[in-house]
Amino acid sequence: MSLENFLQVSDSGIHGFGIFTNIFIKEGEKILLIKGEVISESECIKREENDGNVYIFWNGDNYIDASNEPIIKFINHDCNYNCEIIDNDENSLWLIASRNINPCEELSIDYGYDEIYESCTCLYCNAESIRKSV
Ligand SMILES: [Zn+2]
Repeated sequence: MSLENFLQVSDSGIHGFGIFTNIFIKEGEKILLIKGEVISESECIKREENDGNVYIFWNGDNYIDASNEPIIKFINHDCNYNCEIIDNDENSLWLIASRNINPCEELSIDYGYDEIYESCTCLYCNAESIRKSV
C-alpha cells in the first residue's frame, strides 16, 4: 500500500513546491511507488545534460524518468533528508522513510550528485535564514 493519498504538494521552505505528509510516517515505511518512462542509459545522459532532468532514477535494471509523474518530481533535496529511494521491480521504485517523519514535514531525499552540494540551499544548510523568516 502506498501513502500517496496522505501526501500533498504545496509551497516548500526549500525550493518552489515540495511534498508534505499529512500523517506520521514510520521509519522504513513505503510512501510512494515511483513509476515513469523506462529509458536507455544514453537517453538518460541526454535528458540530464540537455534538459537538466534530475528526476531519472536507476533501479538496478533500468533508468526510469519520473519527470512527468504528478508527485515525485516535487521532492526536494535536503542534506538532512528523511526519505530514500529503493528498488522495486524492473519498472518502478519505492520512496521510503529513512527516519520517522512527522505530520506537516516536507519529504526530502539526498539528490546525490556533486553539484547539489556546491551551493546547497537546503533547509539544513540554510537553517539560520529559514529560522529567521518563519
Ligand atoms: Zn544542504
